[in-house]
Amino acid sequence: MTDQPMVRAENVHKSFGRLEVLKGIDLEVRQGEVCCVIGPSGSGKSTFLRCINHLEKINAGRIWVDGDLIGYRERGGKLHEMREKEVAEQRRAIGMVFQRFNLFPHLTVLENVMEAPLRVRREPKAQVRERAVELLSRVGLADKVDAYPGQCSGGQQQRVAIARALAMRPKLMLFDEPTSALDPELVGEVLDVMKSLASEGMTMIVVTHEIGFAREVGDSLVFMDGGVVVEAGAPREVIANPQHERTRAFLAKVL
Ligand code: ADP
Ligand code: MG
Repeated sequence: MTDQPMVRAENVHKSFGRLEVLKGIDLEVRQGEVCCVIGPSGSGKSTFLRCINHLEKINAGRIWVDGDLIGYRERGGKLHEMREKEVAEQRRAIGMVFQRFNLFPHLTVLENVMEAPLRVRREPKAQVRERAVELLSRVGLADKVDAYPGQCSGGQQQRVAIARALAMRPKLMLFDEPTSALDPELVGEVLDVMKSLASEGMTMIVVTHEIGFAREVGDSLVFMDGGVVVEAGAPREVIANPQHERTRAFLAKVL
């Protein structure tokens, strides 16, 4: 074990045209930690996750994942922008789960989970299949391998999406409101899978409105508003004793 954080963001800025969405985000997530991120709509939470995964290019600042600077290589004491291919390679080590599951509708559940390791990693098919089946039983879907996404509930589809992300053996998982599109009765089964993933030591950043999950599973809680981290700390502390008026006002609305 090293002391090196799994994620380190330093003064991250991101604008879309003249709209400055991230105004200097600093954040550290240690290996094996679950960092929950809350905040009003439009505060930049999704954009921040997308920057970590290099789906968006930042305008200033630095992001490291497992000690690796995202998007840049150091050569001869200077930083050079990475080529697409290197970026894609970095991105593969980071799993992402979105609010909408984005499964391939024409592929079975099993094929959805096998797709990336087969196509991107070119791993042997038998091995990929074995692992996909194992991952699907881990998320409680052993009986759904041959079903199509359209035959699954939203909660089941989201669990497939989690298994699909895990199939690439990520060292970090990013969740962007993974339960927000689900009927209330399906939220728990997805949170349970995330909880067991956390207990197995996966490093996770979870954007969520599920304060109960943040309190129970989170090692840290970050409150973002207007493109900055307003407050961060131990979830119980932040929830029970918010230091900033904006945090208090937000919590009053969601609790
Ligand atoms: P959150 O996830 O906290 O709701 P977002 O990161 O999605 O916030 O969005 C923050 C702000 O950035 C919003 O004002 C949104 O409209 C804007 N935004 C996000 N993505 C883009 C984009 N690709 N182009 C222009 N504006 C964007
Ligand atoms: Mg969002």
